[in-house]
Amino acid sequence: MIVFDLRCPGDHVFEVWFASSAAFEEQRARGLVSCPTCGSGQIEKAVMAPRVGAKGNSVAAAARPDLKTVLNAIATEQAAALRNSNWVGKDFATEARAIHDGEKPDRLIHGQATAAEARALIDDGVPVAPLLVPVTPPESLN
Ligand SMILES: [Zn+2]
Repeated sequence: MIVFDLRCPGDHVFEVWFASSAAFEEQRARGLVSCPTCGSGQIEKAVMAPRVGAKGNSVAAAARPDLKTVLNAIATEQAAALRNSNWVGKDFATEARAIHDGEKPDRLIHGQATAAEARALIDDGVPVAPLLVPVTPPESLN
């Protein structure tokens, strides 16, 4: 999964997760990507241009290496957590919700979810996060 900062003609900038750069291009070409603020489908990748005169510009620049460090730390933590985690494949959203609601015993799981499913889980307060480490789904090993 990779995250893109996207921008519409109305200058709304938003983040969207895609499986790959190619997935982004394909979904954009099919008109599946739209601005959450104004609904415009004319989306382009936001260029992280320096904002002239904006306060905090130097802070943002300085924070970049820290973000990488943080992401690396999360990736390392996730890789460790995955060893104790159960692969649930496409049932991820259902399983995560059941565990969150106490219908199933608490355990670590990982699996596949669509962007819409992931967003719904986050909206409902279910603690989920995109994986930063590559995972081979067990069924693909067959
Ligand atoms: Zn917009």
